[in-house]
This record gives sequence, C-alpha cells and structure tokens, in this order.
Amino acid sequence: MSDQHHDVVIVGGGLAGLYMLHRVRRLGLSVVLLEAGDGIGGVWHFNRYPGARCDVESVDYSYSFDPELDQEWHWTERYASQPEILSYIEHVADRHGLREDVRLNTRVEACTFDEDTGHWSVRTDGGDLTARFCVMATGALSVPRIPDVPGTDDFRGRLLHTASWPREPVDLAGKRVAVVGTGSSGTQIVPELAAVAEHVTVFQRTPNFTVPAQHRPMDPEYEREVKSSYPDRRTLTRTTASGLSMDTNRESAEDADPERRRAVYEEQWRTAGFGFILAFQDLLLTRAANDTAVDFIHGKIAEQVEDPATAALLQPTDHPFGTKRPCVASTFYATFNRDNVTLEDLRRAPIEAVTETGLRTCEAEHAFDVIVFATGFDAITGALDRIEIRGRGGETLREHWADGPGSYLGLAVAGFPNLLTIAGPGSPSVLSNVVVSIEQHVEWIAGLLEHMDATGAATFEAEQDAEDAWVAHVNALADATLYPVANSWYVRTDPTGEHRVFMPYPGGNRRYRRRCDEIAAGGYEGFVLRPARESLTPSGD
Ligand code: NAP
Repeated sequence: MSDQHHDVVIVGGGLAGLYMLHRVRRLGLSVVLLEAGDGIGGVWHFNRYPGARCDVESVDYSYSFDPELDQEWHWTERYASQPEILSYIEHVADRHGLREDVRLNTRVEACTFDEDTGHWSVRTDGGDLTARFCVMATGALSVPRIPDVPGTDDFRGRLLHTASWPREPVDLAGKRVAVVGTGSSGTQIVPELAAVAEHVTVFQRTPNFTVPAQHRPMDPEYEREVKSSYPDRRTLTRTTASGLSMDTNRESAEDADPERRRAVYEEQWRTAGFGFILAFQDLLLTRAANDTAVDFIHGKIAEQVEDPATAALLQPTDHPFGTKRPCVASTFYATFNRDNVTLEDLRRAPIEAVTETGLRTCEAEHAFDVIVFATGFDAITGALDRIEIRGRGGETLREHWADGPGSYLGLAVAGFPNLLTIAGPGSPSVLSNVVVSIEQHVEWIAGLLEHMDATGAATFEAEQDAEDAWVAHVNALADATLYPVANSWYVRTDPTGEHRVFMPYPGGNRRYRRRCDEIAAGGYEGFVLRPARESLTPSGD
C-alpha cells in the first residue's frame, strides 16, 4: 500500500490532535496529523489577540500524561498567556518527537468512507490519502464567527477578528477602535486596547457575567506546593465534575442564610476565578438559587463601574448566571471608568452596516480606524460542518445532523464507521476543563483501537439507537438545569427552529468518564464491531 495510506489520520494539531498522535504512535500504528494552519497549537496558534490567556489555572490547563514534564515546566503566571501556552504545546511536541508526523498547511476538504475497503479517503488541498481510522480533533472553538453585517469589504480601516489575529504586532496606539462582542475574548481584549488606543467603543449585544480572574504572577511557594502533590491534583481534576482542581460546594444557595451565602460568594469572588460557579450546588438548578448569584454579581458590577447607567447596561438580566459561559477577567468592568472607553448598546441600536469609515447603527455613524470582531466561534460543530464527511451510503455528516447533531458519547456517529470526534457534540468539552476532557477522550479512543486490534475487529460503528439515546440523555440532563433558558452557543437549532439540541454533556466529567469506562468494560455496548472482510486489504502495509 502507498505511503499515502495510514492506520490513523488525525485532523487538527491542537492539544487534542497532538495527544492523540502521541497515543496512536505508542500503539505502534502508522499515523499522520493534518493541520490547516502554518503551526501547531490549534486555537492557541490562531487566538493571538492582546490579552488572550486561559481562564483555567495553568497548572491544571495542561497535559497530565507526562509527570516529569509537570515537574520541569514552569508556568510564570496563574493563568498562562497565549504565547506561553503555545510555547508549552510546542515544547511537548518537540519533547515527544511529534512533529515528524505532522503535516502543516494542509486543509482537509473531504473524508469519504469506502464501504468496500473499510477505509476512509481523505481529500486535502495538498493531495489525497487513505486511512482505516479518522480522528477529528478539529476543536470545539476553532472556526471564527463573522457577523453577518453588510459592508465589511467597504471598510478602509483594519478589520480584525480575535480568533484569527495576525501574527505580527498590530499597532493600535492612538487609533479609534471598535470592539464588537463582550464574551470571554471581548472582556479580555478591551482593557488591553483601552491602554493604548485613542478611544475604544465597545458594542455590546448581550451583557455577560464576568468574574474576577484574580490573576497574578506564579507564587514560588504555591508552585512548590502544586508540584509536591501533582499526581493527587491530577487525580482530583480527573474526578471533579468540572475538571478543575476544586469541587462544587455541596451547600444550597437557596437554603443558606443570607450571611453565610454572602460569605461564600465573597470568598469565591476573592479566590476562585472561573470556580465562582462552584459556589453552591444549586446555582444551575433553580432560579431562586441562581438569582442570589445574579444579585451578588450585579452588586459587584455596580461597585466597579462609576457611571450608574453604564453599570446598569453591563448587568446581565436576560439569562441566569452560568447558563452562558461566564467570562473571567480582571479589569473589564473598571475599564469603563476610563475617559477613552464608551459602551454602546446594540439592543437599543443594532449595527446596520460596516461603512467605509466605520460602523453605522440605526442611531448613528461611528468613525473607526480599526474594527475588532470579538464575536466568537461557530462552536462545537463548526469545523466538522466545513468538511464534507461522507459515511455509509454516501450520507454526509451535515445531512445526518440536519435535525441536530447526533453523536454517541460525543465520540462517534452512527453511519460513520471508524470516525471519531474529540470533544464533539455530546461530550463534556466546553463545560469542563477541556484538557481534562481531551485526555479522557484520547485515552478512551486508544483503548478502543487496542481492543479492536486484540479482537481482530476491522470497523466499529455507533448504533443509531445508542446515538439517539445519548442525545436524549444529554438533553434530559440539560433540561433538569437552567442551561436551556439561555440563548447560547451550547444549543444548536435547525433552520426551522423545530429541533433544538443542547450539545455539551452537562452531567460532569466524573459521571461521563464512568459511563465511558462502563461501556468499554462491557465490550463497547452501543457499538457494532465487525471483523475484517476477506476482501479487505490489511492496513499499514
Ligand atoms: P462568545 O462567548 O461567543 O462571545 C461572542 C460575543 O460576540 C457575544 O457578546 C455575542 O453577543 C457577540 N456577538 C456575536 N455575534 C454578534 C453580532 N452579529 N452582533 C453583535 N454582537 C455579536 O465568544 P468568545 O468571547 O470568543 O468566547 C467563546 C468561548 O471561547 C468562551 O466561552 C470560552 O469557552 C473560550 N474562550 C476562552 C478564553 C479564556 O480561556 N479566557 C478566552 C476566549 C475564549 P451575544 O451574546 O448576544 O450572542
């Protein structure tokens, strides 16, 4: 067979794809990783906007599979910046010699399952190849969402998106800058831009809850403490619901007396960063509990923002706390006290068009030198939608997902044998520390490949019933929470609006991991494993 045939093709060179590559190589299988970008790192390669950093502590937002690296690597700050995370990923790739199996600048256009050979044909912009298994490590947050606003080609200034920020520095000194979007990216970039630009105008459609990062340089004592008990800490992150190194407080916000409640919130506000959401166990379960967090955060916003009208605009009222991903930033709210920062309310005055000189809302013309879209991603399914993936009978994944993205465990799709998705719809992915989820997915997939090798299975395929039951299970779990109340990118709605699918698994990492382990231990219940047909050509030769 040609050198264009591999046991495994991995699509995507971020944290997921690189660890998958490492594990596949340890199984002794032939593998190639295809990456569209000109460097590895996935979202951390492209998301280079000023202020970009993770919102999970670096000591936890990192691989756990290399305990020696845990001891050697030094994170300089509580939350690593994008350059530091990228250099960490590059270091891991070099340390484990991964680059030799990575093909950069190679965009996968189509993957087609051949039912006669049991192989996938993979078409890229740099040639074709075949493989027994296709692992889509394409990222839940990797395709930038560009607002559907007319006139973007007319703008004579510079138009940027946070998720595809240029590699070379962008000079924003003395510039009039617009930022559209106030999610995690917006809340991180606005203070950075305000410090250098002549003026920053923030266009907000929906206010978000932003909790304080309590960001700081790495404290040597804390680092020593973490390193001395790293294995225990890693075990903990694997077993908490969120993948963070702290678990949810088992108290109820609804039942706690006001003094106790206030004390818990103050403590979490002062220390927990993203973990603020773990302050009480019922925050995402009842409105009454959630309202107590909303009131607390509204108060904190009012304390930080001097102008009451601006503070009121920044206070979210349209969704319960935590039902959209909370933002984690240090100085976002206080930035609105600066003379060179203005907040515009897109609910009152929506953007009508980008013009030659700036933005036009239904109320006014605004002149800008630079417009920054901090408008997020075509989340969870966006990257998969952009590849023409054809399974059995020529059905495309897009067709299979016409009524909503169905997946068994977020890992496999019925009708698409030997195709795996890492952090796909139905996995905890974006509701957890994603590195913890990624490691669990990759290790489970490696276990499946090993099992197939041991049992002589040539293909695996999720059963349609198992997929339907999993989607129903994920959505039943979501329906028992406040998540579906929000209009968020966690939900994918079909064009008719009839089918709404809540995509990330909201039952927590611990429960998800247990279910995946049970399924593997039970002989891959919900999957059909088929032996090689006589006519199949053995792989890898
Ligand atoms: P996001 O949370 O989806 O926020 C996008 C923002 O753009 C929202 O305020 C949204 O308003 C607004 N928007 C979208 N389309 C618009 C339009 N046509 N007109 C006006 N406003 C529009 O995206 P993100 O901030 O890039 O973050 C996405 C996720 O990436 C985060 O939740 C997080 O998981 C991850 N992330 C993490 C970090 C970190 O680790 N600190 C940093 C960045 C991103 P609506 O709410 O009204 O839609």
